[in-house]
Parts: sequence; structure tokens; C-alpha cells
Amino acid sequence: MARDEVRTVAKSLYEVGEIPPIGEVPAQMHAQLIRPDRYGEPEKAFQDEVIDTPDVGPQEALVLVMAAGVNFNNVWAARGIPVDVTKTQARWGEPTDFHIGGSDASGIVYAVGEGVTNAKVGDRVTVHAGQWDPDDPQVLAGEDPGLADSFRVWGYDTAWGSFAQFCKVQAHQLMPKAPHLSWEEAAAPTLTGATAYRMLHGWPPNVVNEGDVVLVWGGAGGLGSLATELVAAAGAKAVTVVSSDEKGEYTKKLGAVGYINRKEYDHWGIPPHWKDSEAWAKWFSGAKAFGKAIWEQAGERKSPAIVFEHPGEETIPTSIFVADRGGMVVICAGTTGYSATVDLRFLWNLQKRFQGSHLFNDEQALAFNQLVIDGKIDPALGHVYRFDEVGLVHQLMGDGKLPEGNMSVLVSASEPGQKDLP
Ligand code: NAP
Repeated sequence: MARDEVRTVAKSLYEVGEIPPIGEVPAQMHAQLIRPDRYGEPEKAFQDEVIDTPDVGPQEALVLVMAAGVNFNNVWAARGIPVDVTKTQARWGEPTDFHIGGSDASGIVYAVGEGVTNAKVGDRVTVHAGQWDPDDPQVLAGEDPGLADSFRVWGYDTAWGSFAQFCKVQAHQLMPKAPHLSWEEAAAPTLTGATAYRMLHGWPPNVVNEGDVVLVWGGAGGLGSLATELVAAAGAKAVTVVSSDEKGEYTKKLGAVGYINRKEYDHWGIPPHWKDSEAWAKWFSGAKAFGKAIWEQAGERKSPAIVFEHPGEETIPTSIFVADRGGMVVICAGTTGYSATVDLRFLWNLQKRFQGSHLFNDEQALAFNQLVIDGKIDPALGHVYRFDEVGLVHQLMGDGKLPEGNMSVLVSASEPGQKDLP
């Protein structure tokens, strides 16, 4: 839609927390920008600036962001590693001098582009972060868009994320907001929850089944908290791994049957080479003790059908060892490093699967959102931050200092607890 058609407003800029009349799009907006010349610590990399509100094209929508969810991806974006996200944005013809992060949002639709049929101005929505080219041949052929060449993560690979008064999305990203949730609760869980949904339900035949034991790393974190809930919702047994008993008790409230405090073990990282038999045997006894702890917490001598992985380098050797015969280690990140070592003896002999997984498709996001709407999944909201604390919350996340759960930032919602416009 052309700029002039939607900008019939007297006021060209609103303060953060002020709500323009529904459907009236101001010419400019506040946004927490990351710019390449200040890549580094998130607290400094993010800065509130005023920029032009983006236009919406065909099949796109503009959403007034009421609250935004916080994810680890924009810690990486702020640091400029492992990739410079503005260079990725160039691939989609987006601005290359700034990045607006934010891959989760709740809000109100303010404008829709040509051809949008699934949403209208005034709809209360949550936004999922999966984007792809609608004319990508793989998408047109009906294949999983999550595997398409044009697949990208909105608010990380793309410029117009949710840490701004308005975000620009592809209309298929819009989903109904759960009416019983506040804006900040609704903004919190989709990216991590739908990612966890694909990891646990998207790789048949290794999907979570009733009675399975599932090992969930970082069970009190963003991904892990929702993975724990999804495992419990499937009637399976989540055994979480955490770094404190406090976090472990939190995961039990989410439905975990037990937890392991990883601080009680020291066999982490890349194991000694197998040719150094003495050192390797020492590593192996640590891994075996950890495996035994899983059985103890599960209440039966049953190894994990699925190991829910994201720490990567520090934990993969253990994950591969503890997964059950025919089981799967499914991984979506390498937070502690990328050089994961796999002892092939465990992999082939017990016919295990090591599966990469990345985000989700529409179907998986909608399935997760429905569980939220039905009250079967709690958003596991941690702390709520203000718009001027976007840099701070990413700093705390990068430093591993956040409380349990998923974090949200209030953008146009003026205070926590509001479920609709005041
Ligand atoms: P988070 O909330 O910061 O949680 C990460 C958890 O990892 C922490 O709770 C921590 O738990 C655990 N952890 C930290 N260091 C560890 C270590 N050395 N060994 C074992 N566990 C460790 O982050 P998140 O939102 O869950 O995201 C986790 C990772 O997944 C990030 O790298 C993120 O970018 C990525 N991610 C990828 C996708 C995708 O689709 N590819 C989607 C979402 C997230 P304890 O200290 O309690 O053990």
C-alpha cells in the first residue's frame, strides 16, 4: 500500500506508549536500532532513534507493537557475530544501515497490503517469526517453507522487527492473540515455543510420544521452559538440566518430572581423544554418571527418546551418549560453541539420529499458538522490561543473568497486565 493511502493522520510521531487511532499510521516511529558502527555489547548497540515508518507491500501488514518478546538471536545481532545481519538484509532488498530486531510481538493490525485476506485493520494478533518468499519454487511446490532457500527469521535476518512502535510482517505471520493473556504474556512465547514444537513434533518418526523420557537442556531458559511444557502436554517425562536447584524447582512447576544440576558434573566440552584411553575413560565415567542421573530423575531405567539440545559444544558429546537406542538428539543452536564432537560408536551402534532444526513453518507456529489459546501452554513469562531497556535485557541475556522464563518488553502497552486497549 502506498504511503499516502495510509498516512491520513494529523500527528506524524507519537511518544512510546501513546496509541494512534486504529488504522492511522504516523509518518515516523521510535525504534531501538542496531547499527553496524556500534556492534558490540548489547547495552550500547541498541539505541532509540526516530525513523520513517515502513510502507507495506502486497501480502504484508503493519502492526502496532503492544509488546515485544526477547530472544537470544538479537544478542548475536547486537554483537555483529557470527554474521553481520545488515548484510543478510541486503538479500531481501532491505535497509543495510540499520537493523530493528525483535522476533516476537503482540499488537494490533494498522494496515494491510494488497491481497491480504487472513487479517484486517484492528485485529489483535501475535506474530510468528518465519518468513520466506511467497514465489519461492519450493514453497509453491508445497514443500515445507522451513526448508526453503528463501527462509529467514523475521527480526533477525530481516530489518523490521518488533523493537519499534510498528513492525512490518508478511501477513501469514499473523496469528490470533490469546484473549486471556496480557500483551506482554502474548508476546513472550512464540519464537521459542514454536521452535521447540518443531524440534519435538516435526521430525518423524522421532516425535515425542506419551511416556517417553525427554532430556531438556537449559530447562529454565526461553526454549527449555516451553520445551518442558510441550513434553508434559504430550504426556511424556521431561528431565531438565539446569545450573541451580532454584531453576530446577521452576522447571518442575512447568511439568518436569525431575532435574539435574549440571554444576555437579565436570565432564563438559570436547572429550579427550579416544586414543588417550585413560583420559577418555575419565570423561566417560562422568557421562555415565550423568546418564544414571537421568534414569533416577525419570523414575525408571529408560534413556531419552529425544534430547532437546541447544548449548552445543559443551554438551553434545554427552547428549549423543545418553540418547536412547534409535533416539534423536535434535539441536537448534550452539550457544557454547560450534565444534561439537560425536563419538561415532554411540551413533551407529545404537542407531541414533543427530538432527538439526531451525525455527518452524506456519503450521507448526499455529499449532503451538492454539495450545496457548487453549490454555494448555503457559507463556512462561519471566520479567517484563520497558522500551528503553531493550539494550539492557539483551545485555543480561548475553551475560546469562536473566531470571527464568521468557522476557518481554512493553512497547505501546503503557503498563503490564493489559489484555486489550485501555
Ligand atoms: P536462554 O533463555 O538464555 O537459555 C539458554 C539456557 O542455556 C540457559 O537457561 C542455561 O541454563 C543454558 N546454558 C547456558 N550455558 C550452558 C552450558 N555451558 N551448558 C549447558 N547449558 C547451558 O536462551 P534460549 O532462548 O533458550 O535460546 C538458547 C539458544 O537457542 C540461543 O543460542 C538462541 O539463539 C537459540 N535459538 C535458536 C532457534 C532456532 O530456531 N535456531 C530458536 C530459538 C533460540 P542453565 O544455566 O540453567 O543450565
